[in-house]
Amino acid sequence: MTEPKRILVTSALPYANGPIHLGHLAGAYLPADVFCRYHRMLGSDLVYICGSDEHGAAIVKQSIAEGVDPQSIVDKYHALAMKDFAAFGMSFDHYGRTSSEAHRKTASEFFRTMAQKGAFTTKTEQLPYDPKVELFLADRFVMGTCPICGNESAYGDQCEKCGTALSPRELIDPRSTMSDAELVWKETTHFYLPMGEHQARLEAWIAEKTDWKVNVLGQIKSWFTLGLGERAMTRDLPWGVPIPEDVAAAAGVNAEGKVLYVWFDAPIGYVSSTREWAEQLGDPERWKTYWQREDTRLIHYIGKDNIVFHTLSFPLMLMLHGDYVLPENVPANEFLNLEGQKLSTSRGWAVWLGEALEAFPADYLRYSLLRTLPETRDADFTWADFSAHVNNELADNFGNFANRTIQFATKYLGGTVPELVDPSDADRAALEEMATFPARIGALIDQHRMRDAVQELMALGRLGNKYFNDGEPWATRSKDPQRCNNTVHVSLQICGALSVLAEPFIPFTAAKLRAILGVEGVRPSTPGGQGELGWADAARPLLTSGSALGTPEILVSKVDEAAIEAQLELLRTRSAAAAASTAEAPYAPVRDTITYDDFAKLDFRVGHVTSAERVKKSKKLIRCEVDLGFETRQILAGVAEHFTPEDLLGKRVIVVANLAPRKMVGLESQGMLLMAEDRGGALHMLTADSEPGSTVS
Ligand SMILES: [Zn+2]
Repeated sequence: MTEPKRILVTSALPYANGPIHLGHLAGAYLPADVFCRYHRMLGSDLVYICGSDEHGAAIVKQSIAEGVDPQSIVDKYHALAMKDFAAFGMSFDHYGRTSSEAHRKTASEFFRTMAQKGAFTTKTEQLPYDPKVELFLADRFVMGTCPICGNESAYGDQCEKCGTALSPRELIDPRSTMSDAELVWKETTHFYLPMGEHQARLEAWIAEKTDWKVNVLGQIKSWFTLGLGERAMTRDLPWGVPIPEDVAAAAGVNAEGKVLYVWFDAPIGYVSSTREWAEQLGDPERWKTYWQREDTRLIHYIGKDNIVFHTLSFPLMLMLHGDYVLPENVPANEFLNLEGQKLSTSRGWAVWLGEALEAFPADYLRYSLLRTLPETRDADFTWADFSAHVNNELADNFGNFANRTIQFATKYLGGTVPELVDPSDADRAALEEMATFPARIGALIDQHRMRDAVQELMALGRLGNKYFNDGEPWATRSKDPQRCNNTVHVSLQICGALSVLAEPFIPFTAAKLRAILGVEGVRPSTPGGQGELGWADAARPLLTSGSALGTPEILVSKVDEAAIEAQLELLRTRSAAAAASTAEAPYAPVRDTITYDDFAKLDFRVGHVTSAERVKKSKKLIRCEVDLGFETRQILAGVAEHFTPEDLLGKRVIVVANLAPRKMVGLESQGMLLMAEDRGGALHMLTADSEPGSTVS
């Protein structure tokens, strides 16, 4: 087990322009919360920092669209995030916000120090400008095609599909998202961070990070291969941290209308939030212990869309500023899909945390999400899996074991912990195995393998259930009362261990179980608590013979079919509403006119999809076998982000039958399936009720 050591943990600051959804939780929040709760129980000196990211072009854009000021948008979502996170059991030591005065001060100072150390260059250049709304088209105000992956909806600062950081100049066919005006290029001056000059230093630093996750190192490597270049650290925007006037003046730049780039200011939010925490403790200098003492372990939990900022640009900022520790690890998760489709708030394809918490206890969501975390690759959350996780594992294994043991002791043994006398080999073996679990679960948490860690917790539940079954206390009760007592004693001790070890994962249920068992004095997994029993103490029996048990109650109730159907219905209704309200989205322009003869060359046929499977090496492709009546074709359809193979299977689809075969990822595609794409970007399959091979014209 890890030695207690000073640890600073951060979760990516959620962007305050919408509610928290399950995708957020599976990325940067739930894994970090498990890690922090575990370490607090271990006795580590730990601070867990988060807050709202409240600047940037997207919030300005939304404020213009809604006709309100940016502050009222961020106020609303900051309050909502705090409320939802609290109900979900997030155990932040402090949750700050980047529109606070304290943050503005910290971010300005940081920028000034870097400028004084010569970290920036300035550059006067032509940038896209929308004359209709009179704004420079920073970041999300401009959209175009990503030069790396071809995504047609890449933003001026980043392509969300492939994660590449971009500048508007790099976009192919840039367009304004603020109006239908043709964008013009207008002169302006900005501060740049020449990251390319420091690439060797960053590469040397990353080379030491052999224990980082493969998905993270893979992304970093591809950026090194592309070359880091330079990134503008300021923007022309009416909302954000103003650039310090003295710094601007010294560089001969007019500061008016210029703010720090949101990706410069947001990570400094971790620092300012820690400062606020220290101030509220009445020990204002204490933040420095965590940020500036070399023996701090700094860990950033993030989603994969933030890897470049946390592994390259923010560490470089910390290096160039000096005085700060660098991250020890950045355990980024991949994306969580929802019911086989990519999660999308604009398409209404998301589960809002607040709504989910109205339907289910937080621990059910925590448990199922932990089982589904996209730790090494994208993962799919479905309500059917949720139901199975809660009913078959949390209720049938964990809940059932605790319940049957406590019920038995209450019903037959006077509601007290019976004495263990002359234990059998089986009793001893069960206790010995129980003793291995704190270290086993802890090691997995320390490796950021929360999926495996929570399964290990369930393994202890299975151990308990098997031991109880094998002991048959219902049979030994009359034949051999002491053997019965021993079985119940050991089972209750396993319940005791579970009540401690479940705490990081399902804290509400764990607390309930401890209350029934009378396990007291456990060090809280939340900030600031005291207790003489720590994580490692769960290795030994925690219940005293003869002590009274509390009133038994059901720890985990099963989720019924109707509750699941209600969630699916909500998802369907919301995505349909979102599709109907994409009216502002532009229609795709009509292509060049063709003659009838051109059209007549196309041969459309009805095909029956007889098999469908995901192509392993591709995120987009589904390999289908399509029966055209006269022959069967292999067709690779680029629809995996929209449909599951099951959606396609058995459908009668429209196929372009005379398209020249094409090779993709080593497989030949012998045709194409027709799809309709609506303005919101959702795909709809074209089907026909005719026999395979029918012509379509
Ligand atoms: Zn891209």
